[in-house]
Amino acid sequence: MTQIHHYINGAADAGHSERTAPVFNPATGEEQARVTLASAEDTRDAIAAADQAFAAWSALSPLKRARILFKFKALIERDADDLARLISSEHGKVFSDAKGELTRGLEVVEFACGIPHLQKGEHSMNVGTGVDSYSMMQPVGVCAGISPFNFPAMVPMWMFPIALACGNTFVMKPSEKDPSTPLRLAELLTEAGLPDGVFNVVNGDKEAVDVLLTDERVQAVSFVGSTPIAEYIYATASNHGKRVQALGGAKNHMVIMPDADLDQAVDALMGAAYGSAGERCMAISVAVPVGEDTARRLRDRLIQKLETLRVGPGLVDGPDNDMGPLISRAHLDKVKDYITTGVEEGAELVVDGREAQIDGAGNGYFIGGTLFDRVTPGMRIHSEEIFGPVLAIARAASFDEAVSMINDHEFGNGTAIFTRDGDAARQFCERIQVGMVGVNVPIPVPMAFHSFGGWKRSLFGPLHMHGSDGVRFYTRMKTVTQRWPSGIREESNHFTMPTH
Ligand code: NAD
Repeated sequence: MTQIHHYINGAADAGHSERTAPVFNPATGEEQARVTLASAEDTRDAIAAADQAFAAWSALSPLKRARILFKFKALIERDADDLARLISSEHGKVFSDAKGELTRGLEVVEFACGIPHLQKGEHSMNVGTGVDSYSMMQPVGVCAGISPFNFPAMVPMWMFPIALACGNTFVMKPSEKDPSTPLRLAELLTEAGLPDGVFNVVNGDKEAVDVLLTDERVQAVSFVGSTPIAEYIYATASNHGKRVQALGGAKNHMVIMPDADLDQAVDALMGAAYGSAGERCMAISVAVPVGEDTARRLRDRLIQKLETLRVGPGLVDGPDNDMGPLISRAHLDKVKDYITTGVEEGAELVVDGREAQIDGAGNGYFIGGTLFDRVTPGMRIHSEEIFGPVLAIARAASFDEAVSMINDHEFGNGTAIFTRDGDAARQFCERIQVGMVGVNVPIPVPMAFHSFGGWKRSLFGPLHMHGSDGVRFYTRMKTVTQRWPSGIREESNHFTMPTH
């Protein structure tokens, strides 16, 4: 049985803990490895390595830091297929989807390669006569990242490439459900020339996380996961004086206006609702057709399309399946329970994924695509995040009702509108209380050079991930006001606020 350990100070590290957890292959249900769960002492060892490495790494010129990231980028490209297979074997998502997530992570590395430009700061000459001001964007120190199971490559790569580029050192705590990809990325960073201790990985659970949230050497914490844990991370780490960005759960709605190109909308909806088995924080889980006629046409086409949805293992010879298994037996049971709940709440179960015949399913954690109609606010299947391939149709009588349904929801991660009407689209973008909005684009994930983050209870903290917010999060500003005139001694004994 493969044992998965930590990566501390440039090498694999078994740590001192006896605790382990199983890592399954979700497509077969087999336990394929065990991951070591770090003790508090192991976690402190990783923090100590990062702390030790900080002085030299932060003093290196941004250009030299960027050169290492350029090499890292080339190594990811070299190993992309192997990395995608690794993602799929522990997460279950289909190979092409795993490649897609890797590409989105790689784009953040590419963005971070521009750090000499991004970290320039500001400069003003003559803020007063002979007085100049400039700002420096300095690294904050040791940063920690805690990531969810659903993007084992992309979400860590939202965090550490920018943190490292800015001159910080890093301790990553991946999801214990699919921990191998971040470890492989750590090895590639070493191969790219990253000095030992600059990037470390500790595998573990709450015991490791609590050390990262409270140890005084950690300056900043980036978290992505479910909302209750995000809230806990934000409160605890903030209380311990750290800057925090904590991204939480989602329930993303897609509004389909009567004038929308319905073929385009339905194709988009299929990928957005069922891709990656709905285990995406930007998945569309609620379709909101405006008007009864739109609802009827949408429902009919979704039923037809669902008949052709290919569900099966993520790694197959020949063409990909559209969607793989869920992450675990427990999560599969939870999704099935939600389907039961929906029926009990009075929603109409149009397609029941529990009954799907799935080729090659074996003991894997598979479920077919599920469709509910006549879902209304107040039902648990509308208010709660299911995180599975369950799409709800929630009918709205008007554009205003659709907007209110979204704005009244607890979460505000992503949303989309499909329409041909520029005015409706513009109104939607302006009024909607959601962080990421698509117009005829179903999953509006911002590119690496923009920032990713939701509103309301989908994000705790002021700064989003990557893009300019990412650079701001991983640096602190210092502003210098200087003058070099002669005669400074005569004029320096001010007893009032200087006005230059
Ligand atoms: P999770 O909250 O269970 O776990 C996330 C991380 O927190 C893991 O590393 C886990 O080990 C750790 N953790 C879990 N319980 C903890 C505790 N009690 N104390 C300290 N640490 C703890 O999330 P998950 O199931 O791995 O991922 C799915 C969730 O992530 C969904 O809610 C999804 O919406 C969300 N997500 C959000 C975004 C976003 O951008 N907003 C992106 C991806 C995933």
